[in-house]
Amino acid sequence: MTEKLYYQDAYETAFRAKVLDCQKEKEHFLVTLDRTYFYPEGGGQPADHGTLGGAAVLDVHEKDGVILHTTDKPLETGTEVEGSLDWERRFDLMQNHSGEHILSGIICGRYNCDNVGFHMGKETVTIDFNTKIPPEEVAGLEEKANVAIWRNTPFATQYPSKEELAAMDYRSKKELDGQVRIVQAGEYDCCACCGTHVRLAGEIGQIKIISMQNYKGGTRLEVVCGKRALEDYRKKADAAEYAGQQLSVPAEQAGKAVENLLAEKNSLIQAFNQLKWTYFTEKAAQLPEGTENAAFFADGLNSKDLTHFADTLLKQAGKRAAVFSKKEGEAAFAFVLLSKEKDARELTEEMRALFDCKGGGKPDAVQGKVTAEKAELAAFFEGKGFRTEG
Ligand SMILES: [Zn+2]
Repeated sequence: MTEKLYYQDAYETAFRAKVLDCQKEKEHFLVTLDRTYFYPEGGGQPADHGTLGGAAVLDVHEKDGVILHTTDKPLETGTEVEGSLDWERRFDLMQNHSGEHILSGIICGRYNCDNVGFHMGKETVTIDFNTKIPPEEVAGLEEKANVAIWRNTPFATQYPSKEELAAMDYRSKKELDGQVRIVQAGEYDCCACCGTHVRLAGEIGQIKIISMQNYKGGTRLEVVCGKRALEDYRKKADAAEYAGQQLSVPAEQAGKAVENLLAEKNSLIQAFNQLKWTYFTEKAAQLPEGTENAAFFADGLNSKDLTHFADTLLKQAGKRAAVFSKKEGEAAFAFVLLSKEKDARELTEEMRALFDCKGGGKPDAVQGKVTAEKAELAAFFEGKGFRTEG
């Protein structure tokens, strides 16, 4: 059994320990020490990182009471090495883990539910509850959790006897045997936990719920605490500030300004479509008397425009209508070919024999893409009895 120093002091980052064993495992090494401050992954809290001797500690696990340090270099068995924890990482985990305790304690107490899932990701922490939390109550829960921070609520650890434990009201995710470690956060939470926690809730800084969703019949909350909450605020405040600058409004009015901008954009699109379609109708009306087949080149049309324009032309020309359009920077023309008498697919076959052409459809309508010079395409269609324009 490794002596677990992190339970004596969650704030110590430097220590000396004896290497008891070092085994190669794949491209890494598994190092066992007589004592360690490195917390192994467990109870929802990820493992510590840091250095041991000259080796980097990449991961830490516990197996049957023995702590296994995954390192990038071997360490000599029997030697004494210097251990050093990545404190920034550990403190971030302590802030987020401790914040989770307070929030879970408040929520489980309020709704008489259980915390059924807890995951500390790189960016955020997710907590799952087996109850539907009313969305309108989330802000109040968040505030209560922050009041616990403002009151600087102490975290205390105790190892109760079986009898003491039986008399205690505490949260636990599973049936526990052996010595149970109880972590108490004032009036807010009492929970069986093997992780590392802050001494005082003030160290958590802030608890912020950033999203909630229905999850497996209950609720999943996404939460950030401590420095993560500050970074989240900074990121979102910067984004709002930037949006406000672009729209010449204060940051907090950026959302409303975007809504107005989108409405304006939609009405411009409508007006633009109206103009395009008036243009199509006029172009079709200008076809000389007796035109039966018409092909038109017009740049910048979308697929809806192509079909609409080809329809308009066909109504006027009577037999066949084709529209070609190229978007800026593209080599190929998108096209729509409509026919009332001959099979439109036969003409497409002939195009395919001459040009790089892809497309398909039905006897009366084909759409596709063709890469060719405009003059070549125009000559081809004129050869087929089309009047070409544009
Ligand atoms: Zn805990």
